[in-house]
Amino acid sequence: LAKRTIDAMEFIEDNDVKFIRLQFCDLFGQNRNIAITPMQIERALSSGIPFDASLVVGFSESNYSDLLLCPDISTIQILPWRPQQGKVARIICDIRYPNGDIFESDSRRILKETLERAAAKGFQFNTSAECEFYLFKQDENGDPTTIPTDKAGYFDLAPYDRGENTRREICLTLEDMGFEIESSRHEAGRGQHEIDFKYDDALSSADNIMTFKTVVKTVAQRNGIHASFLPKPLVDEPGSGMHIHISLEKDGMSVFENKNNVLSAEAKYFIAGVLAHIKGITAVANPLVNSYKRLTGGQEAPQLISWGVGNRSSLIRIPTLADNYFRFELRSPDPTCNPYLTFALILEAGLEGIEKKLPLMDELAMGENEIIKDVKINESIEELPITLIEAIADMKADPLIKTILGENLAKNYIELKTLEWMDYIKTVHPWEIDRYLSTY
Ligand code: GLN
Ligand code: MG
Ligand code: MG
Ligand code: MG
Repeated sequence: LAKRTIDAMEFIEDNDVKFIRLQFCDLFGQNRNIAITPMQIERALSSGIPFDASLVVGFSESNYSDLLLCPDISTIQILPWRPQQGKVARIICDIRYPNGDIFESDSRRILKETLERAAAKGFQFNTSAECEFYLFKQDENGDPTTIPTDKAGYFDLAPYDRGENTRREICLTLEDMGFEIESSRHEAGRGQHEIDFKYDDALSSADNIMTFKTVVKTVAQRNGIHASFLPKPLVDEPGSGMHIHISLEKDGMSVFENKNNVLSAEAKYFIAGVLAHIKGITAVANPLVNSYKRLTGGQEAPQLISWGVGNRSSLIRIPTLADNYFRFELRSPDPTCNPYLTFALILEAGLEGIEKKLPLMDELAMGENEIIKDVKINESIEELPITLIEAIADMKADPLIKTILGENLAKNYIELKTLEWMDYIKTVHPWEIDRYLSTY
């Protein structure tokens, strides 16, 4: 038996594991899984476990309905909220065709390939994500409402309410799963929270985001609360973003050093690359009709394609750091995106910037209100797409995105998201009745 099979069997025995969930991420960033018993682990590791891909969104359009789940054993973890006797473990899987070939629309694979290409040039990426979310009450049927669990605001030490208890339990569960929690707090919205965990290499970081979302939702559910990552659930409260921090190393040294607030040439090229492709990337980083309601200006969500040091309204912010370890923060993505695809696109766009030595636009160093006012005067500052359908048009127009995602995946993504948009636009919304009915 291969060493990894023996290790897996040992882990399963030592931890009294009775079920193993083989997990993967679909095109739209949802975790999917099928459960196997420990008896199947040897087969899973040697030949993979078949599943019916025709039922998975974004996969069914491939010519094969049978695909294989091939466990990446380094990701095995106990799910702490499941029984303590007869435990449940999960393993994140790669996806292959029955003949063993790589399934090219597997988003985790796409990120791995990006990281391998970068590594061949000596680059290593680290990323971290700040996921914001709301905690909402459930109704008597256990269905979610949009009533926040509290009325507190930013950094509030709220009364000891269910929201705060739940957030604490989420943090402890994440720690049980090996997360290093850096901070957790109430965010600006009523019932809005943020939990930040330590950065990692980009692949582990994307895996962690998927695990994080599962833990938040599961722990909330167990407390009779609905946790939502919807980008803009409440009209009058801030949206939920997923700011991404990115740093780049070459031979263990930061490529983005930031001495006395002067960015290295590579840092500038990289940021220029991201800015050059951000419109098309937005279709992936902000995948829902609802995502665009967060990006309408104000409430610390970006609207313009700009960068700035310390500026919390720009799309890219360079934090002013004591440690000189340079990273930058991309503030547009939201937590409903597929993190594997989003990371792959951002990193490839940045690398292209370095390769082509793209020039970086001037810093936009202003307060939020000034920017909004100014943009009307300064037509040269571009905006992020303002609707999903615009973002899809930008994605179609960007050849880099098609190359990275692959023909098939890009085609499926565009088709399915266009259908979603058509579904939305066919609906008559309460706003239209409110605004027009009495006048027209
Ligand atoms: N909620 C804001 C957003 O939508 C971010 C607020 C913050 O973390 N400063 O991105
Ligand atoms: Mg934050
Ligand atoms: Mg925040
Ligand atoms: Mg942030």
